[in-house]
Amino acid sequence: MTEPAPAAVSAAHSAAHEGILRRQSARESAARTYARALPIVPVRARGLTIEGADGQRYLDCLSGAGTLALGHNHPVVLEAIRKVLDSGAPLHVLDLATPVKDAFTTELFRTLPRGLADRARIQFCGPAGTDAVEAALKLVRTATGRDGMLAFTGAYHGMTAGALEASGGAQDVRVARLPYPQDYRCPFGIGGADGAELAARWTESLLDDPKSGVPHPAGMILEPVQGEGGVIPAPADWLRRMREITAARSIPLIADEVQTGVGRTGTFWAVEHSGIVPDVMVLSKAIGGSLPLAVVVYRDDLDVWPPGAHAGTFRGNQLAMAAGSATLAYVRENGLAERAGVLGARMLAQLRSLAAGHPCVGDVRGSGLMIGVELVDPGGADQLGISDGLSAAISGGTSSGVPAERHLPAGPAVPAESAVPAKSAGPSESAGSTGPVSFLGRSPRPLPPAPELAAAVQRECLSRGLIVELGGRHSSVVRLLPPLTITDEQATAILDRLAEAISAAARPHYA
Ligand code: PLP
Repeated sequence: MTEPAPAAVSAAHSAAHEGILRRQSARESAARTYARALPIVPVRARGLTIEGADGQRYLDCLSGAGTLALGHNHPVVLEAIRKVLDSGAPLHVLDLATPVKDAFTTELFRTLPRGLADRARIQFCGPAGTDAVEAALKLVRTATGRDGMLAFTGAYHGMTAGALEASGGAQDVRVARLPYPQDYRCPFGIGGADGAELAARWTESLLDDPKSGVPHPAGMILEPVQGEGGVIPAPADWLRRMREITAARSIPLIADEVQTGVGRTGTFWAVEHSGIVPDVMVLSKAIGGSLPLAVVVYRDDLDVWPPGAHAGTFRGNQLAMAAGSATLAYVRENGLAERAGVLGARMLAQLRSLAAGHPCVGDVRGSGLMIGVELVDPGGADQLGISDGLSAAISGGTSSGVPAERHLPAGPAVPAESAVPAKSAGPSESAGSTGPVSFLGRSPRPLPPAPELAAAVQRECLSRGLIVELGGRHSSVVRLLPPLTITDEQATAILDRLAEAISAAARPHYA
């Protein structure tokens, strides 16, 4: 149950809470999103915890859609904001130079993958991730003189026209859609390294076949871990293949690290798990330290667009830059990426043990503190209709060493690759527990997604004081994006509440 705040929850608090929610539903757009599933009225927040107007407290694993690397109102962020406010500096300066911006750029460049950092240029964009995606697409189109774009199934890049075109739900002639590798719902029915290799070969053949119908593109945009698409980490080998394929064909590679950046996945930038150096990186969310900020960082030879090519009024938010510098420095100095990797691996292992006792949990996957639990209908039929025989034939009898006929784990669900020590793997290997891992021990035959059950789990979580997000192709993935600063005890509290919520939600569905 939700914890009451120390002050007794008064009837007046309750009435205020109800009134605000009532007015919201009467006055705000039908297109509102999080507010529908999370009928809370946050009034105070610190770290992982949000307090509602009704006096209830919640553990916030939504973190402003992954924005709050340091949680709510972290002291270093507040101090950085106060310092700017007290200094008399202008708060709004378009794209003029300021000491605050200079410090932000220096700190950001310090964190970039080597190979890009030395030759980086930065474009400050309108403050949403989607505007930075637009800028990246425009940049590579200008630099190459080409128009087409390669993007991936399940991708999410934002809500403006170009970003939406590149996202998975869109149908657009300028964007060629390629398979994103995934184990649980592998389009080829085999998952693992074999599935990823088939996805890479598909990409290669599309580019090299003169009759593929895909003209030589201006760029390829990908998320190193798909977030909204259902928390799907790209295998490091596949990312390296994408880097080789694009480099060999002079196609700029754009890494959209809007959600995966600033330590979230266990390295400062998620591309570091594979060691690849993209040509362009799109950065937002956590780089603003909880305030709106978005940039594109790219190699200098692409910097051929003319002045004003990507303008916008709100590109000079000094408070966001100060909060962002403080956040980037704090994550770097305190090793929070490594901490996210270690804690995330532990949480994944615990969730996998939990999954073994819950047939409605189809898959558990993630990277660092970007974690997804896919809810399925255990009574449902095989969705892909790929027989075990065919699957076995494609994969040579096994998928990732797991017998093809094995649908759900019989014993403790420990993936083979989590046995590989992360630290010995080095930055160019993905297989460590701090790198992207997926539940290869699961099945090449996914069970049908269970979006209603996932929504029920989200409601049960909320009633236990835990805020989680839903995502994935079918909105059936419960997503955890806690701050990188959470303690071991807080991680345990999150998993306890989630476990209870899954049990409670599953009971009426599968009694
Ligand atoms: N790119 C990725 C990978 C995202 O996850 C998002 C938002 O969730 C965006 C782009 C768009 O960012 P924004 O919502 O700030 O426009």
